[in-house]
Amino acid sequence: MKILAIETSFDETSVAVTEERKVLSNAIYSQILLYKEWGGVVPSIAKRAHQERIDYVIEEAIHKVKKIDIQTFMKSIDYIAVTYGPGLALALETGIAKAKELAARYEKKIIPVNHMEGHIYSVFAQNRNGNPPRDFTFPYLVLLVSGAHTELLLWKDHLSYEMLGKTRDDAAGESLDKAARMLGFGYPGGPIIERLAQQAATSDHYQFPRPMARSKDLDFSFSGLKTSFFYYLRSIEEKEKTEKVRELASSFQSAVIESLLIKTEQAMLQTNVNNVVIAGGVAINSKLRKEFRKLVKRQGGAVLFPPYAYLNKDNAAMIGIAAFYRAQEGYLRDASSEIDRVPRLALA
Ligand code: ZN
Repeated sequence: MKILAIETSFDETSVAVTEERKVLSNAIYSQILLYKEWGGVVPSIAKRAHQERIDYVIEEAIHKVKKIDIQTFMKSIDYIAVTYGPGLALALETGIAKAKELAARYEKKIIPVNHMEGHIYSVFAQNRNGNPPRDFTFPYLVLLVSGAHTELLLWKDHLSYEMLGKTRDDAAGESLDKAARMLGFGYPGGPIIERLAQQAATSDHYQFPRPMARSKDLDFSFSGLKTSFFYYLRSIEEKEKTEKVRELASSFQSAVIESLLIKTEQAMLQTNVNNVVIAGGVAINSKLRKEFRKLVKRQGGAVLFPPYAYLNKDNAAMIGIAAFYRAQEGYLRDASSEIDRVPRLALA
């Protein structure tokens, strides 16, 4: 089953061709450079950028598979998948409109996909040769960590989830972005914090609070940490801020990662599930990966991250893979049917 997948939920215009779990091609146009001066994504700019680029990205995704025209290529495609939420309404609309246009022209059905479900399935993505050959062994604990999401879910079976806990305020990635800004750096902040932290003399010099560490539920909270970081920065001289910038970044990052570890371990103990899936933009953080490998090893389980770097960012390949499992359950829509974008779409 071959799928052409479209992802435009946020700041990446991406189109992929997938065959079951195999990614035959994935093309991305990133808008990150457009937002450097704004300090974050601007919905109206995102919409225009998606609209301007989408046809080009479709062509690129096709040409990475085969240098033929779209009419000929579409004969080999079974379905068109598209992200319908969560994300920015204006951005989602562009992808949905393009999916409907293609579905009508080439007489295909559409598979609407939840963006976060795509992130989850991204850990089972394979290259053209079927690597890595991971098998599904349900159930999994899923930790989704990105700029907009911090959620712990129980993944019971294909397309079946139970929400165990989520952030009550900021997402983990968002808090890293904000900490970077407070230190005087630009957007996106997560990678900047990680780079600074790698050069720090000690990883947790300042020992900022671990929010929610003692609560019994599995929710997260990062706004208290952000506030204590803010007041700490105000309390010190500019000189210390400059000289200790690496230690400040590293301590903040340590507090975020440890909060994630504490709740994940709690969830493992409560559910008796030792296989953990970690996905979303923050899953690329190497310190996070290292610490989670240690935790899961201690608990006698396995941890799965997206197997290729591009899968940590928003991408259409993961949408195509999730769509394959959706298609088998009959989640198919006609080109003429209403497919509304759902900016706050939830998984469970
Ligand atoms: Zn995402």
